[in-house]
Amino acid sequence: MITDLAPAFRPIDADLSVWRHDRADETLFYAPGYVAVVDAGCVPEFAHALETSALTRWPALDALREHAAAQDTWRDLVARPFAPVCLTLYLNNECNLHCRYCFSDPGPQRASRLALPVVRSAAEIVATHCRAQNRPLTVVFHGGGEPLLDAAYAGAVLETVEAAAAAHGLGLFRYIATNGVMSPALAAWMAAHFDLIGLSCDGPPGIQGMQRPLRDGRNSAPYVEQTAQIVHASGTPLHVRVTVTAESAPHQDAIAAYVCQQLRPQEIHVEPVYGVGRARDEVQAQADAFVTGWLRGQAVARQHGIPWRTSGSRPGEIHGPYCQVYRDVLHLVPPGTATACLTTTTGEQARARSLAIGEPGAAGTLHLDTAHIEALRHALRREAPDCAGCFNRFHCVRDCPERCALDDLALAHGFRCAINRTLAASAIHDAADSLRAQYPDEAVCGGEVHF
Ligand code: SF4
Ligand code: SF4
Repeated sequence: MITDLAPAFRPIDADLSVWRHDRADETLFYAPGYVAVVDAGCVPEFAHALETSALTRWPALDALREHAAAQDTWRDLVARPFAPVCLTLYLNNECNLHCRYCFSDPGPQRASRLALPVVRSAAEIVATHCRAQNRPLTVVFHGGGEPLLDAAYAGAVLETVEAAAAAHGLGLFRYIATNGVMSPALAAWMAAHFDLIGLSCDGPPGIQGMQRPLRDGRNSAPYVEQTAQIVHASGTPLHVRVTVTAESAPHQDAIAAYVCQQLRPQEIHVEPVYGVGRARDEVQAQADAFVTGWLRGQAVARQHGIPWRTSGSRPGEIHGPYCQVYRDVLHLVPPGTATACLTTTTGEQARARSLAIGEPGAAGTLHLDTAHIEALRHALRREAPDCAGCFNRFHCVRDCPERCALDDLALAHGFRCAINRTLAASAIHDAADSLRAQYPDEAVCGGEVHF
């Protein structure tokens, strides 16, 4: 079974964030984001030096020690106060598609949308933090639904954020996640007004039509292809988001070929369906089937020189679950509630799960509940007992979003844990193999691990 790859990484010491895996004639030492490949003959000396902090002749060992400070980075991340530098906006709860798995379950009618005064107030809060940190402001248009259904309203929201950034003398990075089903004129407007387009496409028309049909049942693929062409013509960077279901998991090589050839993005982000919202009863792929398919897709994408990524485990980054309160993101959902969680798409949902962290006052001024934010940050940092010794623990979303970190952590890990650790282990082996090919005569070599 391919998912048996991961358990072979074992911690070398309870106090060190370093794990080892013995291969035929060499050992891999792994600290979050970095792997050292050590010939069998040098392993005792290398391991001893690692445990005793002795000076050595190997630069890879110093780099490994630096990456082993992940524990400190994680502590800093959870200890520092919430200081958002990104504003994420779920503009509405309306959509022109009827994807079978939508995490937000939007309807055909606009239930509610963000009010401009609260967008202005939230942008002001984020801009203040950006200025203090000397960073540009990032704004993300997302749904809750399709963010560009009402182009005039979306334009007004964008102008509101642009004005806040300009008032503080900040640069602005504008990202939009879209289903791409729109007129050519609107696609051209989008390409001209955003810095990066994230286009959802689940693969060739047969898969796209099955998983992401229009509300009237027709296939959305022709619109997505047309929008991608318009974005290309404008020169705006394009990423594609692929959602994988149990049915499409074995076809990820064909999905990769189609996306690379037809849509030609700079990156492809591949995620197993989020089993929440309308997809709460969706049966996931078997972990082995997802991973096998994912690796085949990655091989095809590599032939085209296009990164094939997934977000569950990102070895180049120290991270936990997707909680916005840990990602420096101020996230608004209609009609103007600030939420801690990307799976809540209305203020009502956020309040029902105690994940609302701010509400607008009478004049639309957003009031953040700092005491609740701190309480949530404290509660969400909990870790399941099984994670404590895991080589993946500093870069894993755990079982989020299907199982929240606020839920019972004693429950056995499931699908996401299996794919996160297997794909991370695969990335480590990949990095080790290419280091070995690059430095065949070195007894010890090392390098960073990325997807
Ligand atoms: S959830 Fe992540 S950190 Fe925890 S055991 Fe699974 S792979 Fe490891
Ligand atoms: S851990 Fe819970 S609050 Fe955090 S993103 Fe996941 S589901 Fe949302």
